[in-house]
Amino acid sequence: MYVFCYEYKLSTSQLFVIPNYYILVIDVYQAWCGPCKAVVNLFRKLKNEFGEDDVLHFGVAEADSIPTLQPFRNKCEPVFLFCVNGKIITIVRGVNAPLISKKITELVQEEREIAAGQKEHSVEDASRQLAFFFPNFGIKRTDQKVEKTLALIRPSLLKERRRKYSVLQRIKDDGFKIAMQKEIILSEEQTREFYKEHENQDYFPVLLEQMTSGPTLILALTRENAVAHWRDLLGPKTVEEAMKENPNSLRAKYAVNNIPIDQLHGSSTPDDAQKELQFFFPQEHTLALIKPAAAKKHKDDIMQKVKEAGFTISKIKEEALTREMATQFYRDHKGKPFFEHLVTYMTEGPSVVMILTKENAVEEWRQLMGPTDPEVAKATSPESIRAQFAQDILSNAVHGSSNREHALKSIECVFGEIDTD
Ligand code: GDP
Repeated sequence: MYVFCYEYKLSTSQLFVIPNYYILVIDVYQAWCGPCKAVVNLFRKLKNEFGEDDVLHFGVAEADSIPTLQPFRNKCEPVFLFCVNGKIITIVRGVNAPLISKKITELVQEEREIAAGQKEHSVEDASRQLAFFFPNFGIKRTDQKVEKTLALIRPSLLKERRRKYSVLQRIKDDGFKIAMQKEIILSEEQTREFYKEHENQDYFPVLLEQMTSGPTLILALTRENAVAHWRDLLGPKTVEEAMKENPNSLRAKYAVNNIPIDQLHGSSTPDDAQKELQFFFPQEHTLALIKPAAAKKHKDDIMQKVKEAGFTISKIKEEALTREMATQFYRDHKGKPFFEHLVTYMTEGPSVVMILTKENAVEEWRQLMGPTDPEVAKATSPESIRAQFAQDILSNAVHGSSNREHALKSIECVFGEIDTD
């Protein structure tokens, strides 16, 4: 279906050749319902208002037939992509006429100032482009580095399970990956420490009460320009501003009745993100070991996996464990029928023994190892080290500490005092 104001019906190949010298607003629609009729009058009006210098154009694109629009499929609400100079700089979801109008007006004014030589495209504009969806969209890829940001879903929203899953879905739809997560009840002390710059604000007592009232979901999110993108999705700082200025923002949509504190947090800058991530996901050490048979046969492949997973190898040595070391590693199994076999096997030949360092290292190394029994590993975690390199349950390629306390003791036992920095 074509409507007068749409000059472009974009296909997969056309997405790569859109002229890149003007503002293009694309209505991304679902095949079953066609382009959004509700905005036609608005677009016609804006075209009349701003059309004369050929700066503003409209197009439609069917989400179902264009692979790069896959994230927008099966959605009920219309989605509008705003492109400037061939870059997608923002998304508006839903027929929010005032917001669409405001964005278009701002963009046209800005383009006119740029055309008149009064202004240049800012780096910030470029960094906000949503190139994730259009990796080949005539984009200079210089600022497309993958970043991490911290996101919090606060206790009152987290209690509403359906809305919590809806936020998590939105996070995935927007191309974020959840690199780490944990659900914890923050103590008063932790809350005061995390929010120490807000301590003198009048809203602080309510914030403190809110944050300690139940579990908070803490997420480390990754994607290109994660910090700015998550912040843009959240919208204005307070619930009140968000409701007024951007009702489609997450802070407005996921506000909780009668609670003045917004329910979602995101780091403000890449520097803040680093500090906040360090606060909730401090660097951890774990003891990892490539068992004798695998050390002989698969050392290089396993080391490759260790590096790909982003661990730092803080210390490494190759040696046969003493009985004392093996007994310390497996002390929880003393008395079990396989204990003697295990200790003998582990002392038989050289192992590769390492201190691995990363946020959440203990848990992440266990994930990468996979389940103890290789048959289970093959069935449930085919990418894990044990699925790929284990022989049997005893000779199952790798060992890893089961918790932080074990990690500290085992590291001390093998490497002496920890001095990894
Ligand atoms: P891990 O932390 O995944 O290595 O597993 P555990 O701490 O439970 O066990 C330590 C090691 O003991 C395992 O890696 C296996 O090599 C061995 N093991 C555990 N359960 C059994 C078992 O039922 N039979 C035998 N033969 N070995 C086992």
